[in-house]
Amino acid sequence: MNFPQISEAKAEILLVDDQPDALRLLSIMLNSQGYRVHRVASGSAAIKAVQQQIPDLILLDIRMAGMDGYEVCQRLKAHEATQDIPIIFLSALNDTLDKVKAFNVGGVDYVTKPFEFAEVLARVENQIQICLLRKQLQGKNGELHQEIQRRKQSEHSLMNQAQKEQALNRVIQEIHKSMDLGTVFFTAISEIGKLLRLDFATIMNYSPQQQIWLPVAEYRQSSETESHLYASLPDEGNPITAKLKGGEIICLDNAGLLKDNIHSTLAKRSTGSWLIVPLEVNHQVWGSLSLLRQQPSPWQEMEVRSAEALASQLAIAIQQAELYQKLQLANQELGRLATLDGLTQVANRRKFDECLESQWREARREQSYLGMILCDVDHFKNYNDSYGHLAGDDCLKAVAQAINQVVKRPDDLVARYGGEELAVILPRTALNGAAHIAEAIRRQVYKLQIPHNASTAADVVTLSLGIASFIPQAEQPPQDLVNQADKALYQAKAAGRNRLALYGLASITSYVA
Ligand code: GH3
Ligand code: MG
Ligand code: MG
Repeated sequence: MNFPQISEAKAEILLVDDQPDALRLLSIMLNSQGYRVHRVASGSAAIKAVQQQIPDLILLDIRMAGMDGYEVCQRLKAHEATQDIPIIFLSALNDTLDKVKAFNVGGVDYVTKPFEFAEVLARVENQIQICLLRKQLQGKNGELHQEIQRRKQSEHSLMNQAQKEQALNRVIQEIHKSMDLGTVFFTAISEIGKLLRLDFATIMNYSPQQQIWLPVAEYRQSSETESHLYASLPDEGNPITAKLKGGEIICLDNAGLLKDNIHSTLAKRSTGSWLIVPLEVNHQVWGSLSLLRQQPSPWQEMEVRSAEALASQLAIAIQQAELYQKLQLANQELGRLATLDGLTQVANRRKFDECLESQWREARREQSYLGMILCDVDHFKNYNDSYGHLAGDDCLKAVAQAINQVVKRPDDLVARYGGEELAVILPRTALNGAAHIAEAIRRQVYKLQIPHNASTAADVVTLSLGIASFIPQAEQPPQDLVNQADKALYQAKAAGRNRLALYGLASITSYVA
């Protein structure tokens, strides 16, 4: 047979026999073959020897004084550490019953005395070989088992990673859904907190004017975790923020170990591992995403990558939200400009038409009075001719602002109706009330005392005002109100200007201050 020589040479055999001759003979035989042999002369000595050193094989005499071979075998088979040692029984008797019992108690083979050298050696070699093969198999099994475990683990961590990546993608989708920065911050910080099982996380915003870092959102794993929401961090002399401004990611595995001044504040406030990622918007530091695990431990590559990915998506969301805010402001301004008269800064004709239409409908529904005053600068053509067109513009501006000062209710509207004519819409105002306002306007403009030496009405700029008011009826067009006010205005002009006239009444004398 072709056995592996190294293992055979190293094999250690325990010989157990109470007959000294048999012991000696076997010992010499096996030694000569390179086996290391340990001899004992009793069953109890055999048990002790095995406890000290586990042999590769035991040659065990059956018939011994005291503990016999069967019992030794049974005791060894009863313990996990010794149960696998192969045992070859030795007996002077060539008895079938003995052989059966020998195999029943766990023996692997049987040699009969007197010994045939070749037979003993063949049986010993055979068992050593089987033992060796079993060991190799066990080793292979172990490797196989380890490999399976390793693959399971990596599969598990891959699955974990995939799940985390999916979760991160969901967070990212979520933050892009909102244009409201408060919602974006809240979603981002609470989701990353849960995802990475953090104790605390915060988004800080850097204010270059104040040179401080202010928390704008935070996540706390439990209510016992200290809140930092109202604590700002100074920027000056802070090596961490200096690094953040340079776009560096900061991994502090244990902030508690930090010693210099600024770090010691941080360390005192929160020992543990910090992962701080800069948030850059338009190539400038906007702030940071700061994550804390209170139990100091190194950050995993996956965690750093997740924080980085979230930070860059947050930066995009911040940029979008800021643009959106600017757009909204621009739209508001545009809306305001679209309804404003550029020269006089009161509502323009378009706004006047819209307002008249809606107030008309409302008055018709409510069956309330809708009042209207049309104001026209007296001899304005002459004013332009005398003082120039630019002075005319200034005069119009001053007149419009004077009217605006008089008209105070939120629903009232002063508008430039056209040229040097200004109109006032007065919801829920009957003729009498409208006349009061018209007279107040006339006085206010007169009080401006803008010289007008080319007017027949006065030596200052004056207004003529036509007033109308009624409860709109079904099928009546809003233009009716304007037409009536215009007719009254014509009356006021005809009666000498610098006065008001009410539609439906004879021209009334004005009150000149
Ligand atoms: P009356 O007393 O009958 O109202 O005489 P008036 O000259 O004011 O009336 P008219 O309608 O004949 O002339 C209106 C003038 O208002 C003509 C126009 O040059 C002037 N005007 C209209 N819009 C503007 C403006 O935006 N700026 C200036 N400077 N003048 C304007
Ligand atoms: Mg006019
Ligand atoms: Mg005029």
